[in-house]
Amino acid sequence: MKLTDSVRAIKGIGEKSEKLFGKLGVTTVEELLAFYPREYDVYTAIQPIASVREGNTVILEGTFTERPRMNSARNLKIISCRLRDVSGQIAVRWFNMPYLLHSLKVGMRYILRGRITQKNGVLQMTQPKLLSKEEYVNRLGKLQPVYHLTAGLTNHMITKSVAAALKEYEPEPDFLPLEIRKKYNLIAHKKAVQAIHFPESKEAYAQARNRLTFEEFFLFSLALHRIKETKQEKTSDYRLERDELTKELLNRLPYTLTSGQEKVRQEIKHDLQSGKVMNRLIQGDVGSGKTVLAMLALLSAAENGYQGAIMAPTEVLAMQHYEEFMNYLSPLGVRVDLLVGSMTAAQKKKTMERIANQETDILVGTHALIQEKVSYADLALIVTDEQHRFGVKQRELFSDKGKSPHILVMSATPIPRTLALILYGDLDISVVDTLPANRLPIKNCVVGTNYRPQAYRFMEKQIQEGHQVYIICPMVEGSEESEAENVIDYTNMLRETLSPSVRVEYLHGKMRPSEKTEIMTAFSKQKIDVLVSTTVIEVGINVPNATVMMIENAERFGLAQLHQLRGRIGRGEAQSYCIFMAGNTSEETMERLKILENSNDGFYIASQDLKMRGPGDLFGVRQSGEYYFKLADIWQDARQLKQANEAAGTYTQKELSLLCKKYDGLRKKLEEYTGEVML
Ligand code: ADP
Ligand code: MG
Repeated sequence: MKLTDSVRAIKGIGEKSEKLFGKLGVTTVEELLAFYPREYDVYTAIQPIASVREGNTVILEGTFTERPRMNSARNLKIISCRLRDVSGQIAVRWFNMPYLLHSLKVGMRYILRGRITQKNGVLQMTQPKLLSKEEYVNRLGKLQPVYHLTAGLTNHMITKSVAAALKEYEPEPDFLPLEIRKKYNLIAHKKAVQAIHFPESKEAYAQARNRLTFEEFFLFSLALHRIKETKQEKTSDYRLERDELTKELLNRLPYTLTSGQEKVRQEIKHDLQSGKVMNRLIQGDVGSGKTVLAMLALLSAAENGYQGAIMAPTEVLAMQHYEEFMNYLSPLGVRVDLLVGSMTAAQKKKTMERIANQETDILVGTHALIQEKVSYADLALIVTDEQHRFGVKQRELFSDKGKSPHILVMSATPIPRTLALILYGDLDISVVDTLPANRLPIKNCVVGTNYRPQAYRFMEKQIQEGHQVYIICPMVEGSEESEAENVIDYTNMLRETLSPSVRVEYLHGKMRPSEKTEIMTAFSKQKIDVLVSTTVIEVGINVPNATVMMIENAERFGLAQLHQLRGRIGRGEAQSYCIFMAGNTSEETMERLKILENSNDGFYIASQDLKMRGPGDLFGVRQSGEYYFKLADIWQDARQLKQANEAAGTYTQKELSLLCKKYDGLRKKLEEYTGEVML
């Protein structure tokens, strides 16, 4: 079986599963092997009942003290009984498994694996799996892969398919140069792929992860070094010197720029007048006011007779920028246009004509901006917002649209300077280090689920005062595998719980772009009071009237991500509140979340998060699922990032060409990565 074969070549995958795998972005054997587990399930040793704690998944062994009972609540059938060992007793409950009623025997020994939850202050084990002694012994200490799923495809099916593929595929020669593998102590690719799916031990997992994250970073760094070399000190055709309109816009803004904004504005202005091509990153915490800096730079392109474009990662965000730009720039006679995927073909065609004929000065849009068909008349500046969502390849595609246009990228992800210098190695970095002064700091609280009724009352009060609320849930819809809150059920529950006049809607990533846009627009126009959403709202949305955010299952998110989410509130002049709802109140969870309660500073939070987990914490929550890496996490794998960057930096372009000749696999990967041909 070759890596390029369709997944159909794998035993057990037919037409139906092929389609389902397709939904997960897996069509070839190679893609399946690179479909790394989301996390691992670890079977730990049987523990005494008296030692269990809320939130942990544990294995218990004991006998039932009484015959199981069955109750019906709403449309649920609940089986309850009590398990006893020498140390104590605990309540056990199963939902919708009525057949257990007669199969469970009093006096027999059972092994149960399940999560410990709390109800009315009492610990219980919910929905445990019954294990035979043999199953227990076989799985003890092993890491079981847990994959991202799609409806119809179970974890078991994916695990089986991966195992079958691993057995039968013909590996290609390792593409990492031998000298690098030796120097950084990296295991072979083939061995790493085997071990990332089925690690024999934590050490084996660590080695696999080390190798695979290194290779991701290595490719990334090589690509970046190449880009850097080709564009260093390039002279620019676009000297943007006129600034009458800029001055007028500054006068019209309803606020004055903060000192941080002003400093960065000067840096940008200097670049744009320098006669060299600008390559600049603006970093600034959420809400620090980066959009207006982009608007000023784009205006400068327009007033000097050229075009400028800004690309946002979501349609919702693009629409929002478009409206804001129209509002400020059209009175100055600047022509602003929008291009997003959900527009009709006719609308797109018209817009593209205007772009080509230079009837548009500033174009706002999504990925649509870099599609082949869009051709710009005279593009002098491109801006990418929330840069980390785009890969190197997309960044370059965008700049290919003009004759070496100036480049400005904006990111709200607070990363330490050392990492930023690597990740954005090809860019100069500006930091907006102030927040607008009219903001009241967000008030935070970390609470357990028993606080919910109070939280709802609080929300209703805020809504009565004319404000709006976000509620974040980790899942889109309910599933048997997860107890985490989901957007759909939560919305239905809220509609019944809150007073009927409160308008509750939901938003999640599986909705069509046009639906998402519609909901977001309605929310920003105050036609929705409570928006229940997954993390899709994380990026850039600006609705200053929203003053409350409640994050369900806050323990499931990385701290930096929680901070980004929280950045959606506290954007106006009214006091804002963020409620972190912890699905379990274990010491660990509470300690982690307290960091957010005590600080609103993104850089501080990110550094604390890193410190708390330490490099050994391999199974921690993924910090940001949003960077352009598959497995690697810039926080968790910071050491590999530094090493890979160092390794990539040792090759001159000529040496790299030679290396690509020797390691054909490397050439192919790099070409895939950068979208250009390596000579
Ligand atoms: P981000 O840096 O997260 O992209 P935005 O650019 O969306 O932040 O700005 C957040 C809000 O702050 C917007 O409503 C914007 O109008 C406002 N804002 C920006 N700069 C200032 C300022 N200097 N003073 C007051 N409000 C400002
Ligand atoms: Mg923004």
